[in-house]
Amino acid sequence: MKKRTLASLEGQPLEGQRALVRVDFNVPVRDGMVADATRIRAALPTIQWLSGKGCRVVLLSHLGRPKGAPDPRYSLRPVASELERQLGTPVLFLDDPVGEEAVQRSRRMKRGEVALGENTRFYPGEESNDAELARRFAALGDFYVNDAFGSAHRAHASTEAVARILKPAVAGFLMAKELDYLGMALSEPKRPFVAVLGGAKVSDKIGVINALLPRVDQLLIGGAMACTFFAAMGHDMGASLVERDKLELARELLSRAGEKLILPKGLVVAERLSAGASRRSVAPDAVPSGWAAYDIDSETCRDFVARIRRARTVLWNGPMGVFETPPFDEGTMAIARGLADATRKGAVTIVGGGDSAAAVARAGVEDRITHVSTGGGATLEFLEGKVLPGVAALDDA
Ligand code: ADP
Ligand code: MG
Repeated sequence: MKKRTLASLEGQPLEGQRALVRVDFNVPVRDGMVADATRIRAALPTIQWLSGKGCRVVLLSHLGRPKGAPDPRYSLRPVASELERQLGTPVLFLDDPVGEEAVQRSRRMKRGEVALGENTRFYPGEESNDAELARRFAALGDFYVNDAFGSAHRAHASTEAVARILKPAVAGFLMAKELDYLGMALSEPKRPFVAVLGGAKVSDKIGVINALLPRVDQLLIGGAMACTFFAAMGHDMGASLVERDKLELARELLSRAGEKLILPKGLVVAERLSAGASRRSVAPDAVPSGWAAYDIDSETCRDFVARIRRARTVLWNGPMGVFETPPFDEGTMAIARGLADATRKGAVTIVGGGDSAAAVARAGVEDRITHVSTGGGATLEFLEGKVLPGVAALDDA
């Protein structure tokens, strides 16, 4: 179901209206400073558009996992400072966004002014999707915008219940972009459609594999996930990360996927996980005992990249190896560059998952990927075909 977006409000009398905007400012904070502002930057188009229309913009977000009570370690104050830097204008901070005082202040804001409320998870009703808390949030706005794709898989008071109370309730630009690209990959991909999956565990991605298999032309598998498949084929994977309790499932997937499922031709194995450890490339059935696979080998890189370059839609989730520990990042970096190449040749390329997004940034190709999803769990659940409560609660287009 298509959702109503912020763009649909173009031409409406927005000046002076209070826009309540749920953003995902769940960013890393160290020593009172925002360590990575990617998520803040991603919400700027929505904030600046509303501010430019003369709206009073009231932002809400969660940060970390406080236990339903105020906890200074999870205050959004450092985020407000970073947002001021990004916007180049002062940001009003609402210490208690559910108090009567906050409502009064929201009404006294100047047109175009931006305010940020304290952590929504400081209130016990947030995670239980409490209607009374949602009514208090709703009092801060005249309409609702959800731009927090990364939080849309949770039915919380500031993402779900509030959208049922405060109308219109629309998708912000970031949310709309996420739904467009991820939705396009699932429903009308340009073909060939190649998905690349990796990461540590088959169990994390089983829902995604199931949902993608009937849709893709090829499913390339790397990372430790590949080791579980090789173990299922009867290979001794040495000390590699293998999910023993998923072997039956892997066998079933192998037979169901047939030719679509492409595994690595070879693996980089090492005696231990460190930059200086002795390492070599081996066939998947020749892992020395006591050694572990930490990356795909260079022949596999060439094979995977060639397939990616022939695709017109590429979806990537999950690193090909332990990319945090070079030189075991080589396979992952090659795939990142392969996606950038495919984009240049006209393919739509989409990256999901926190670690994969970090890998794309490390490879320096962020700007050469069509869409790097900002959601972690939300992206995976969307790709599994699940309904995201924060999206479902928005108005239909
Ligand atoms: P994403 O966050 O992009 O969804 P995941 O969290 O599923 O990705 O997987 C990333 C993790 O998988 C990384 O920490 C990486 O070190 C690990 N990983 C990938 N390949 C291997 C491997 N061969 N052995 C152990 N860990 C691996
Ligand atoms: Mg991860």
